Amino acid sequence: MKINDNFEALPESYLFSTVAAKLRQYREEHPEADVIRMDIGDVTLPIPDAAIKAMHKAVDDMAAKTTFHGYGPEQGYDFLRNAIAQGDYASRGVNVNADEIFISDGAKSDLGNLGDIYSEDSIVAVADPGYPVYVDANVIDGRGGKLVDGKWSNFVYLPCTPANGFKPVPPVEHADVIFLCSPANPTGVSFTRSELEAWVAYARANKSLIIYDSAYCAYITSGDVPHSIYEIEGAREVAIEVRSFSKTAGFTGLRCGYTVVPAELCGEDAEGREVPLRKLWNRRQTTKFNGASYVIQRGAEALYSAEGKEQVSENVDYYLGNARMIRDKMTEAGFEVYGGDNSPYIWVKSPDGEESWPLFERLLTEANISCTPGVGFGDAGQGYIRLTGFNTRENTEEAMRRIIRMFNKK
Ligand SMILES: *Cc1c(COP(=O)(O)O)cnc(C)c1O
Repeated sequence: MKINDNFEALPESYLFSTVAAKLRQYREEHPEADVIRMDIGDVTLPIPDAAIKAMHKAVDDMAAKTTFHGYGPEQGYDFLRNAIAQGDYASRGVNVNADEIFISDGAKSDLGNLGDIYSEDSIVAVADPGYPVYVDANVIDGRGGKLVDGKWSNFVYLPCTPANGFKPVPPVEHADVIFLCSPANPTGVSFTRSELEAWVAYARANKSLIIYDSAYCAYITSGDVPHSIYEIEGAREVAIEVRSFSKTAGFTGLRCGYTVVPAELCGEDAEGREVPLRKLWNRRQTTKFNGASYVIQRGAEALYSAEGKEQVSENVDYYLGNARMIRDKMTEAGFEVYGGDNSPYIWVKSPDGEESWPLFERLLTEANISCTPGVGFGDAGQGYIRLTGFNTRENTEEAMRRIIRMFNKK
């Protein structure tokens, strides 16, 4: 047999493994060093108690003949789909039906698997810098073309720079499928209503599909930042929304997320006939997926109880408190900083035009702080680093003191 050659064309993903290797080496050579991890891309607080209780009960359900659950619906249990439709959409005045919601084992799977429902020759647009899954999954599916100077010839790259506040703007070129992430990883910035309206208008004019990754919507606090793309008029005809319980409720190790495919949303077949994407996604899921775990879905459902909501917002507030502190201290010290208000991520420009990796090395050796080099998320991230609010308050405070001391700021 022959392999899928796209895997060989795909460069190794060096970013997180290189950060980890450099950290390991530094700690071996300097066992006395107290390194503070400001690069953590995972939640650190435990699962909210409401979900823990619900999952204990769900495990007991599995122990009795009358309450045992075997294969569940591939689309997810109605109890969770209804809780989401009510708790994440109806309660905010947004029209999303339970039968448009597909439960999964996480957003990353859905973002990668959605490529099954659009054509292999689709022109894909991605933000630079951006979450690497959008690019790599589409390259594996054969949509990359040739890799020239680190860029795939068939992609439309949406450069994010200080000029646009690191928020991608609609391109002049045509794109069939556009991946948007708000609040964004790695930059921490989020679209305002009018910025998102411009994207919906572009997608309507170009008959494009927007795949809207709102894994961080629980971190939104600003009034002018939409939680869902469906808050924008006309978005139901052009957008799929992907969400996750990972960063919201700490489910990174439990695995649960969901994807919304509105009933009106269509693509064109070879004969130019309109085909509902919900039908295709349903077919894809029923063929290749057998549903998320009953126990985990019960845990996710409990996040929508009064108790669950309160516990989720306590955890999110803790991370947001760290992120705000980083943003404020770094800004006060004169750094150019993005994100950190509706997001756990803070995107920081090198003070002296230094590139991302040299700055990473210097922070590690001079201040014992680890960060994520921005260039690892795309060329436009060169000269930036990503800091995160996932460490403890105490460590975050100490990290800020060290950085400010290191740069002799105040
Ligand atoms: C963490 C993350 C995800 C993945 O979420 P899972 O549900 O854990 O798979 C998706 N998108 C972005 C931007 C993320 O940062």
